[in-house]
Amino acid sequence: MLISLVVPCFNEEEILERFHARATDEMSRLGHDFQIVYVDDGSADRTLPILEELAGADPRIRYLSFSRNFGKEAAMLAGLQHADGDAVVIMDADLQHPPELVGRMLAEHAHGYDQVIARRNRKGDRVTRTLGARAYYSLINRLVDVELVDGVGDFRLLSRRTVDAVLELTEYNRFSKGLFAWVGFRTTTFEYENAVREKGSSAWTMGKLLNYGLDGLLSFNNKPLRAALYLGMVLMSVAFAYAAWIVGVALVKGVDTPGYVTLIVVVTALAGVQMVIVGVVGEYVGRIYYEVKRRPHFLVKASNTGVPNQQRPRE
Ligand code: UDP
Ligand code: MG
Repeated sequence: MLISLVVPCFNEEEILERFHARATDEMSRLGHDFQIVYVDDGSADRTLPILEELAGADPRIRYLSFSRNFGKEAAMLAGLQHADGDAVVIMDADLQHPPELVGRMLAEHAHGYDQVIARRNRKGDRVTRTLGARAYYSLINRLVDVELVDGVGDFRLLSRRTVDAVLELTEYNRFSKGLFAWVGFRTTTFEYENAVREKGSSAWTMGKLLNYGLDGLLSFNNKPLRAALYLGMVLMSVAFAYAAWIVGVALVKGVDTPGYVTLIVVVTALAGVQMVIVGVVGEYVGRIYYEVKRRPHFLVKASNTGVPNQQRPRE
């Protein structure tokens, strides 16, 4: 059985060699054939030279390097496409996904599980991020069709058929957490202690997180559109009822000019609601725009995989 590790790296020069040492130690200890697929996501530091060096010293190392930063989603996709393993483990290069857990994943896989998820608790994370995540997951689970769990990320083992299924999903806007949940198959989860990043800094700024969150909300179904529609209908009914009441009052008591405040409130409130709804519709149109352009998910500038600059070797 061949095990592939897929490792997206973005500016990880400080930790990459340590990651590599720990990962290869652990994999050798487990005694399976293994391969590591590193994807350099357009790093500006020495990540690529380090990868070239590692690959030169060990034929089990594959690497691809993107022409620019395409994001972790693209990097994971590239890694999955270039992994040959009967089982593939996706993990971060910053040692926040301890390689020592791969053994446990393989044990669960041997019990017949297609996806083995390592779920981290949030010990040591900033409170703002923990609370934000909690609020987000309770909202998103109400809106999307697949179940997403806080702390469940990309650190997981996928069986060959699960990887093939994920690669069948060629959409441009990728939200992997959701895609993995969407493909299904027998899945099990175990929890591990959160490891705080040792070197470098998380590439996730608050803005990036917000956008990522929105992607998750909008990339599954049209429930947000539905919600906008209902909101519009409710507000319209309220507005009609209010209008009827005002006319009624005017008929009974005679015309009374005050009402300036109500007018302003109603006009601005409705304008706001309309903007939101147009925005939601626009988001979907924007997504369609990106999908129909059919641009590749990434461009490769260097690799040792023998696959030229193309994203899907399979078709
Ligand atoms: N990463 C990437 N491209 C990016 C950002 C991050 O390939 O644009 C990689 C990064 O090198 C790391 C993993 O994705 O291996 C997780 O990134 P990070 O540690 O910044 O995120 P966090 O752990 O805070 O979720
Ligand atoms: Mg990290």
